[in-house]
Amino acid sequence: MVQICEATPEMFANGNGEVFKVYGMISRIFPSDNDVYTACPKCKKKMTEESGGYRCEKGCNEFFETCDFVYMLKAIFMDSGHSVAVTCPREAGEMVTGMPGKEFKSFKETNDLNEIDLYLME
Ligand SMILES: [Zn+2]
Repeated sequence: MVQICEATPEMFANGNGEVFKVYGMISRIFPSDNDVYTACPKCKKKMTEESGGYRCEKGCNEFFETCDFVYMLKAIFMDSGHSVAVTCPREAGEMVTGMPGKEFKSFKETNDLNEIDLYLME
């Protein structure tokens, strides 16, 4: 376990990233259009909407009527003294919002920004 301020660029220098644990909390979530993306059920790449479904242009190029909704949630994570911008992918996004990606997407479509902010602050 390290503090955010102890994470130095050198720790990431090998290009493979570095895995470490930090203890803190999410202080802010930035809702954006890309919080949840339409993922290919087969290869998980982002799909493009097409009439009647979705096409996996960046991956296997197959057409699907449905797709997976996968999180890529942007947030600010804070420990005792420092904060860092993080991306909460997949299950991490689900943990943060407390709902599956598909539900969050429709929640965002049916509520205005203030209501979404209020929900996320809880
Ligand atoms: Zn695909």
